This record gives sequence, structure tokens and C-alpha cells, in this order.
Amino acid sequence: MTENKYDHLFISGVDAEIQARRPYATIGFLDGKTFEGCNEYQIFWVGDKPYGAYGTEAWGEIYHGPHAHKYPELFIHLGTDPENPWDLGAEVEMYMGPEKEKHIVTRSTIICLPANFAHGPWRILKVNRPFIIVTVNQNPTHTERALRNMIPKTDWDRMIFIDAGYEDEGIEPKFDWPEKAGPRTEYM
Ligand SMILES: [Zn+2]
Repeated sequence: MTENKYDHLFISGVDAEIQARRPYATIGFLDGKTFEGCNEYQIFWVGDKPYGAYGTEAWGEIYHGPHAHKYPELFIHLGTDPENPWDLGAEVEMYMGPEKEKHIVTRSTIICLPANFAHGPWRILKVNRPFIIVTVNQNPTHTERALRNMIPKTDWDRMIFIDAGYEDEGIEPKFDWPEKAGPRTEYM
């Protein structure tokens, strides 16, 4: 197959190995390695089966634990019914701030997460119709600081916690992957 000079700027899918672990199409995982100056983005479908990283039988079993990022993030949930564009067709739970204010997302929604803002646990409760998640992180590499102490230790076995990009504050990169989440994968 001939390659064009700019083919690498047309992203349509992820490595076969990553896609093989996910039950629905993953359009792209981009970051600073994709092209110079590119920030971190994830664009993927979510359906009735949990995507690979969670490895569980049903949604609702595993959470992404509370955390913060160094840079603002947009966490976009998009419904896919053109007749009802605001209907997410799914139920997603998100806790916001140090107060853990509970929100249930059932509409197409952009969740705006300021820098250093505590958010989570986040989990998908149910999916009636596949929807699309788009994350927009305003930095070329992933930064994430797990806020384990916001959750009682007895619930940690249902939480994914990630530390990344905080080495300058003395926090070593770490990936806490609860056994209940099934086989670990690089991406969520
Ligand atoms: Zn986040």
C-alpha cells in the first residue's frame, strides 16, 4: 500500500491489540506522540458490555476512583440517536469536588473539569443505547493524581486509581487495578 506524506494525521482506530480487548470501536487515543503539539484525547464508543479495561460482566461494578489533573479536561458524553440528540441512552454517575456532589448524567453532556479539581468516582451504571465518549485534556501527556483518601479503604477493591505525571511533586507513577476489574489494559 502506498503511503502518503500526511496519512499519519488521519486517525481512524487504535492498534489492533488494543481494539481486540474492547468490545466497541475505539476511534482514537491521541497524545503528544501523535504529532507535535497534540494534546491528549480519547474518542470511543461505549455499549452494553463494559469495555476491556473493566473486564467485568456488567456496568456499575467498577469505578474510576476520585482524582485530579494538572490541566483542565472536558469529559464529553454524546448520545447517538438523531431523533433524540440530548438523550444519552445511558446512565452515568459522577461525583464532583471535594464534597463528592453526586450527579447522574442521562443527557448528552460536556462535563468541564478545571485544573486540580477533584472528580470521581465515575462509573457507567447502564447503557440502553451505545453512546460516544470524547475526552479533551489540555496537555500532551497524561497527568492524574489519585485521591484515594476520599474513599474508604473497604471500597478500594472496586476502584481504579492512577498516578501519572506528578513526579515533580514526589508522586511515583502507579496504576491500582482491582482484581474485580478483570485483566488490566493500558487504556480505559
Ligand atoms: Zn479525570
